[in-house]
Amino acid sequence: MAWRCSGETNLELVENLFRKGIIKSNRVLEAMKAVDRNDYSPRRPYSDHPQSIGYGATISAPHMHAYALEKMQDYLKPGMKALDVGSGSGYLTVCMADMVGPEGQVIGIEHIQELVDMSNRNVRKQRADWIDNGRVKFITGDGRQGYPEGSLYDCIHVGAAASEKPTKLLDQLKSPGMLLSPVGTTLQSMMIYHKEKDGTIKEEKWLGVQYVPLTDKDQQYDI
Ligand code: SAH
Repeated sequence: MAWRCSGETNLELVENLFRKGIIKSNRVLEAMKAVDRNDYSPRRPYSDHPQSIGYGATISAPHMHAYALEKMQDYLKPGMKALDVGSGSGYLTVCMADMVGPEGQVIGIEHIQELVDMSNRNVRKQRADWIDNGRVKFITGDGRQGYPEGSLYDCIHVGAAASEKPTKLLDQLKSPGMLLSPVGTTLQSMMIYHKEKDGTIKEEKWLGVQYVPLTDKDQQYDI
């Protein structure tokens, strides 16, 4: 039913996601209203489908962004710090940055330099100050290693499928903290990892999903 959420405008798309119960909270509603997908996915920005953004990468479908933001919202409170692995277009990174507010920070890590450049340009269309003051920061690198220099994080989102449990990323989470990642090769599950106050990790298999893999840069161009 998710594709029925498509709209003619950003507002219509987001209101459809709300009406279908995919967006439930006011905070996610406001963030997705504030960030216009047209700045990140210019071909069919308000269609509820994943779209190619070049270089073997896609911007995920709006309903997947909405589901992810809903799940992560308790770890995207004002002042919190988050990492977005495989940040691609930069769209979700900016929604997360909207939720953590001016005192918070979200770092996007992406291994294709052209996509990092594109995401910086995309954010600058409406929010150059967020790049200038570091509320949003894009790093070029292998997201499988995370970004220890910026850790620890309240929340880590992974936008491509890890082949196995992402232990290096779990090490970069605060206690408590939350990591959301597709995991698997042919069959993938969206996994939720909760790091408890005492550092123990609870994992939950949430949804069956289909994401592009977290991979080596050279391999991605062949996909
Ligand atoms: N959240 C992004 C999703 C982009 S698709 C969006 O909605 O726009 C997944 C992204 O992961 C791609 O941009 C791809 O280039 C990136 N990626 C794949 N393997 C990676 C790796 N090892 N390190 C960093 N980024 C990676």
